[in-house]
Amino acid sequence: PPDVEQLGRASWTLLHSITATYPETPTPNEQNDVKQFMRLFGKLYPCWVCAEDFQSYMERNKVRAETRDRFGRWMCEAHNEVNRKLGKNEFDCNKWEERWRTGWKD
Ligand code: FAD
Repeated sequence: PPDVEQLGRASWTLLHSITATYPETPTPNEQNDVKQFMRLFGKLYPCWVCAEDFQSYMERNKVRAETRDRFGRWMCEAHNEVNRKLGKNEFDCNKWEERWRTGWKD
């Protein structure tokens, strides 16, 4: 099986990148697409302990996809849940877009 850390970094890159390219004002179909994608992602994620916890997190915290910002923040909070579980620092979700879409303004 793939290395859990390497798989994790690659997966978060994919997931946050999907939120970054998500429309600002998605149609109902586009909202359904990402909800289905996340449900299947949680089901198929190839780290079984991770997948189980992530699915239960999504049961308690339904995907929010009404706007790009809502979805980006939802993903950031989901990632923070895993950060907490692993004893890592939480990320400031006000900065999700700067990190994943527009780039840091240094
Ligand atoms: P990562 O956590 O991979 O983050 C990559 C980059 O994202 C960071 O460098 C930072 O710039 C940015 N970032 C950090 N936090 C946020 C945030 N909240 N919002 C936006 N950007 C952020 N590992 C386990 O050991 N056990 C598990 O149960 C587990 N479950 C996982 C569940 C899922 C759905 C995923 C995708 C991964 C899971 N992982 C799990 C892997 C774990 O989350 C990390 O990816 C891995 O430990 C590598 O961590 P990292 O410190 O390199 O950075």
